[in-house]
Amino acid sequence: MKQFQITYTNADTFLKELLTLKERSETNKETNFLFQIYSTILEEEPIHILCQILEQVFPDAPYMGCSTSGNITDCQLASEIVIICTIFENADTKVKILQYDTDSSPVTEITKSIIEETRQNQWVNAIELYCTIPENSTTQFCAGLTDIRPDIKIFGGISCSEDITSSDSIVFSKNGGYAVKSVVLILYGGEQFYVEAIKITGWKPLGRNFHVTKSNGRILQELDGIPAYKVYQKYLKIQNDEHFFYHTLEFPMFYEHNGTTILRVPVASNPDNSITMSSDIEVNSIVRISYGDPATIIDSIKTAGLEIQKFQPDILHIFSCAARRTFWTSEEPTYEIEPLKEIAPSSGFFSHGEFLRTKEKLNQHNVTLVIAAMREGNKKNTYHKNSVQAKSLTKIPLASRLANFISATSLELEETNQKLAKMNEQLKQTSITDGLTGLYNRKEIQSRIGERLHCMKDDIFCVIMLDIDNFKQVNDTYGHQEGDNVIIALAKILQDNHVLGTQSFSAGRWGGEEFMLLLPDCGIDHAQTIAEHIRQCFANTTYQQAQNLTVSIGVSQAREHDTLDSLCVRVDEALYDAKQSGKNKVVVR
Ligand code: GH3
Ligand code: MG
Ligand code: MG
Repeated sequence: MKQFQITYTNADTFLKELLTLKERSETNKETNFLFQIYSTILEEEPIHILCQILEQVFPDAPYMGCSTSGNITDCQLASEIVIICTIFENADTKVKILQYDTDSSPVTEITKSIIEETRQNQWVNAIELYCTIPENSTTQFCAGLTDIRPDIKIFGGISCSEDITSSDSIVFSKNGGYAVKSVVLILYGGEQFYVEAIKITGWKPLGRNFHVTKSNGRILQELDGIPAYKVYQKYLKIQNDEHFFYHTLEFPMFYEHNGTTILRVPVASNPDNSITMSSDIEVNSIVRISYGDPATIIDSIKTAGLEIQKFQPDILHIFSCAARRTFWTSEEPTYEIEPLKEIAPSSGFFSHGEFLRTKEKLNQHNVTLVIAAMREGNKKNTYHKNSVQAKSLTKIPLASRLANFISATSLELEETNQKLAKMNEQLKQTSITDGLTGLYNRKEIQSRIGERLHCMKDDIFCVIMLDIDNFKQVNDTYGHQEGDNVIIALAKILQDNHVLGTQSFSAGRWGGEEFMLLLPDCGIDHAQTIAEHIRQCFANTTYQQAQNLTVSIGVSQAREHDTLDSLCVRVDEALYDAKQSGKNKVVVR
């Protein structure tokens, strides 16, 4: 395939140039032509004249066009209106243009119809997508195209005005005509037609994470529970005024979605301190403010350039966010893409948003550069070119170094915070547990019984108090260590689900060799059975030195007017009775 471009100056010259083009390429069928018109002028009249001339000279050739924030030919800024003519040289290559009115048809109907078109035209292997600036977002449209055949590449851009703050934009095509709310698709395909589409950002996340706690479509309401605008005010000192858009343009939100990284630009700040974004950011997304780092951008272009070069494209289509043009300033608007000039003839425009299908999902991007490389026929093995010479920055800008400093310190802070959170959790754990046994300490088990009493209505619960029999003798005869071993062994029995059943319970060390169990939703009979089971388990355990020991147990069910004190006294009395009546037994009160 070949690319020719015509700069539109006036109708007469355009007509002459088209006739010359036709003459020179007489051997080609008109249907092998595709015309794409990029215009920074939105008025219908000049567009209409241009299209009429085009139809007069090439009545059968398909064409489409859109408004832009600047036109690109051969990786440089082109004039106000450019006409790109692509000639397909392979007889098998096909092109079809579709246009849908987004005002009169629901999105779901449009996406269904596009999918149907690709079903009927099995030759399609790529779709170039153009649409006017949407009122809400393109999320529904993008999601609607997920079911398109997985091998079909999708890429494109949103039309724009030269003034990037304007919401005016147009698209047009031969069949669909001039439209302010419309989507145009070019379907490409054929046995010998190949496309590779990639995206490049080069924007880097800066500083800490923010959690999107409230959002509604394009309206980003809250980050970490505070109004989204406050984040831009606090960290970047950006005022909530008419310059908001320009000031935030260089600091879009960076996040992961559909398995790829996405940038979203704050378009306007609202009176309620929410921010209108360039497209949706879903609730619960983890976002970070990002910044354009010239060194990273240059590196990304170099890597991408080599990748594109390997593909050996005949032509490149470039969709570059208008924000990138602003970033590189009016002196060098195409600074970053110029290294790609050596690869192949190119055309494209500065867009309001960019489209790219990644991992079968179509996403709308912002602040991004999408490049589609196209080729007819196999790679020519003899094809050798110098590798892409990306422009190099002799000096890393101070802002870049500072941003790096912020990123590094934020990362350190994040790590420290995680460590602190972990320590805090451990501290909390140790403040409620007993060091020797790992059971709850007395304060915690008391508080749990107290809570249960406090919210007791119709539910029932029991407590069990245990005291090891003749424990002093164990210490006196075999030493403190053996005593500890026995305490630990009883604690293990009290934590064992097999002994207590699967119901949730709390076990605590009351002090010394005394323990307390809280059995919620448990009647007195069941509690007695459990207590008996514990008694037997402990009695059946053999200790290295102390051999066999026993435990006395008191059981009591909470009563309507019980206080923590009255309940504890009663279960203690039950335990006392067990001791008094010979030990190694369960007494209920
Ligand atoms: P009884 O059957 O009447 O309960 O007799 P007893 O010997 O168990 O009586 P007492 O409750 O007076 O004895 C408890 C002993 O437990 C006293 C104390 O030295 C010991 N003790 C308390 N805490 C610990 C501990 O953490 N480790 C060890 N090894 N011994 C402890
Ligand atoms: Mg005791
Ligand atoms: Mg004892």
